[in-house]
Amino acid sequence: VWNNCLAFIQDNITPQAYKTWFEPIKAIKLTDNALSIQVPSKFFYEWLEEHYVNILKVSLTKELGKQAKLVYVIKMENTYGNKSPFTEKIPSTQRSTVSPQEIDRPSKSKKPELKNPFIIPGIRNLKIDSQLNANYSFENFLEGDSNRLARNAGMAVSNKPGGTSFNPLLIFGGVGLGKTHLAHAIGVEVKEKYPEKTVLYISAEKFTQQHIESVRKNNRNDFIHFYQIIDVLIVDDIQLLSGKSGTQDVFFHIFNHLHQNGKQVILTSDKAPVDMQDIEQRLLSRFKWGLSAELQNPDFETRVKIIENKLYRDGVEMPQDIIEYLANNIQTNIRELEGAIISLIAHSSFNKKEITIDLARKIVENYVKHTKKELSIDYIQKVVSDYFQMDVATLQSKTRKRHIVQARQLAMFFAKKLTKASLASIGSQIGKRDHATVLHACKTVNNLSTTDKQFKKFVEELDKRLTI
Ligand code: ADP
Ligand code: MG
Repeated sequence: VWNNCLAFIQDNITPQAYKTWFEPIKAIKLTDNALSIQVPSKFFYEWLEEHYVNILKVSLTKELGKQAKLVYVIKMENTYGNKSPFTEKIPSTQRSTVSPQEIDRPSKSKKPELKNPFIIPGIRNLKIDSQLNANYSFENFLEGDSNRLARNAGMAVSNKPGGTSFNPLLIFGGVGLGKTHLAHAIGVEVKEKYPEKTVLYISAEKFTQQHIESVRKNNRNDFIHFYQIIDVLIVDDIQLLSGKSGTQDVFFHIFNHLHQNGKQVILTSDKAPVDMQDIEQRLLSRFKWGLSAELQNPDFETRVKIIENKLYRDGVEMPQDIIEYLANNIQTNIRELEGAIISLIAHSSFNKKEITIDLARKIVENYVKHTKKELSIDYIQKVVSDYFQMDVATLQSKTRKRHIVQARQLAMFFAKKLTKASLASIGSQIGKRDHATVLHACKTVNNLSTTDKQFKKFVEELDKRLTI
């Protein structure tokens, strides 16, 4: 049947068109009066629907009579990578079919010479897997000064994809600050608000692989067409396109096509456009068309909120001082912050131990080992004087008042503990004392903290302030 149809079609269209649009089709099944054909892509389907619907109808009706039905099956193999196909096989109930009733209905695209023009219902049922992670929602993306602009711009974009001046929306910032999360959140929200829109999340790395693969398989055009039918395209880590001029070129064309058609593009990068290297100028200038919004290091409050939210979602409780300890010690990477929380919980449950500051300290060490700056003796004196609500001059003075002596001794003790300075140098910096005075101070602090509860508390609290 299909061969007869093909013969008829071949006689009626140009050889070039026939070769492009009909040779790749495979007939797969004929039941009663329904013929199933397999087409290589959604794009392919849409093209057929737009340009060849009438000739298909005529040829099929000739073969199978008025009751003819045509069922499209979009080829399931993923042309663009192996693991996660974007195109899913449409369940048979959702397949686009031409039903008898519809055959009898007049079509808008009716051409006078055709007696029974038919309509193929739109293939809105075709699914493209958006590759979105539902956990990366706006709800889970806590707001703070560090991300307010980017987050709000993201929300605006998801309310009106393609309809704001934030096109493209470029989210940039350092590692672990939430670029990927926010990019997903926008996609997730668009899908929520506009389920019919085609959203696709892709890493620049995967995009590059797909492109290379398409060149190898000689279907670069299919690759481009696939991307051109997307309503909201999210490309993560575009800095990875640097130096890859072929992929940049293809992306440039896809970008222009989408942008011209009012489609939304969302990009992330670890750098601001001005700092991107080995990216073509024309592409960089496109990146700047919309809005570039930075994700900065979250401030202390935001870090605390993020930790609390994570604990809440995991159903875990943690003492407030430990939460604050974590927030204070892991400042520049939210992924590390989450990693520390997870190891902390794991350690404590594995060893059936309570989550303590000591455990937290050990774990944090693994995360921020080398980033800590050495404290200065000036800083230590400042923190200690603040703690006892006196000024540094008082702490350094010759007075023998007990609480001032204690403050001075504590400053010396911490200077010894937390810096590499010699006893002599510590002494000279803290009120011009000699090395023996400093040594004595250290011994006194050690003794007092085992005998005097109140004093022990001073030591612990100061330790916390200083090592934070
Ligand atoms: P990036 O892509 O910038 O390297 P990610 O988006 O992968 O960073 O974020 C790292 C982790 O931090 C993720 O688990 C993410 O959920 C979390 N995260 C980042 N920002 C926030 C935020 N504002 N609120 C809650 N979690 C966040
Ligand atoms: Mg990322």
